[in-house]
Amino acid sequence: MSIAENLAAVRAEIAEACAKAGRNPAEVKLMAVSKTHGPRALAEAFQAGQTLFGENKVQEWEHKRDQLQSSIGEDVAKVEMHLIGNLQSNKASKAAWLFAGVDAVDTIKVAAKLNAVAAQAGQVLPILIEVKTSEEESKHGVVEYALPGLMRQIVDEMDGLEIRGLMTVPPFTDDPGGARPYFAKLRELRDNLRTEFGLPLPELSIGMSHDFAIAIEEGSTCVRIGTGIFGQRGRVGMD
Ligand SMILES: *Cc1c(COP(=O)(O)O)cnc(C)c1O
Repeated sequence: MSIAENLAAVRAEIAEACAKAGRNPAEVKLMAVSKTHGPRALAEAFQAGQTLFGENKVQEWEHKRDQLQSSIGEDVAKVEMHLIGNLQSNKASKAAWLFAGVDAVDTIKVAAKLNAVAAQAGQVLPILIEVKTSEEESKHGVVEYALPGLMRQIVDEMDGLEIRGLMTVPPFTDDPGGARPYFAKLRELRDNLRTEFGLPLPELSIGMSHDFAIAIEEGSTCVRIGTGIFGQRGRVGMD
C-alpha cells in the first residue's frame, strides 16, 4: 500500500472509531509521525493532503526540513510540524524556532528556554505537557504530583507559551486495551486541571498506530500515527 492509501485507510478508521464512540470526527486530528522516514515519505503524505506531522528529534527535522523544501518548495511553510519527543534543554531554543508546537514539555527548564525564544519573537508557542502516567523507567514526562506546580509556573511566568493540553505515551501492551487506564487517567488529570486553572486545555494527545481506536473512546483529540501511515521504521538510518 502507498502512503496515500495508508492515510486514507487511517482516516477511515478514525471516522469509524468516532462514530462508535459517538464523537464528531472533526474533534480528532491526525498527526503523521514521520520520524526515521525520509523527506520523500513526508512529501508523499503532504501531497495526499496531510499537513500535521510529528517528529521526535530536533536535528532530524532540521535536516529533513531543508530536503523537503527542495522537493515541495515554499509549501514547506504549510507543514505543521510538532515535536513529540523528549527535549533536552540545550536544544530547546532551536526547537522553538523549528516547530509549530512542542507536545512533550516536561520540565520547567525546557519550558523557560522555549518561552524565552517565543517571547523575544513576540510569539506564543503552543505546548502540551507530557505526563508520565506509568511506572515504566523508559517513559518521559512529568509525574502526576509535580504536574500542577509545573503548570502554575508556566501560566504565571511564561507569556510566550500557551498550554493547550496534555499528552502521554502508555506502556506498550500487545492488547491495545491495556492502554485504556492510562488514557483515562490523562483525561481525568486534564479535567481536574481545567477546573483548578480555569483554562480550556482542549487537547489530549493520545493514541498511536495500534491503540488509537481506544484513545478516541477515551477522549483523544490528536492521534499520533507513524507505522500505520509510513510502514515499519528501519533500525538504522532513514528509508
Ligand atoms: C513514534 C511515536 C509515535 C508513533 O508510533 P507508531 O506506533 O508508529 O504509530 C507516536 N508518539 C510518539 C511520542 C512517538 O515517539
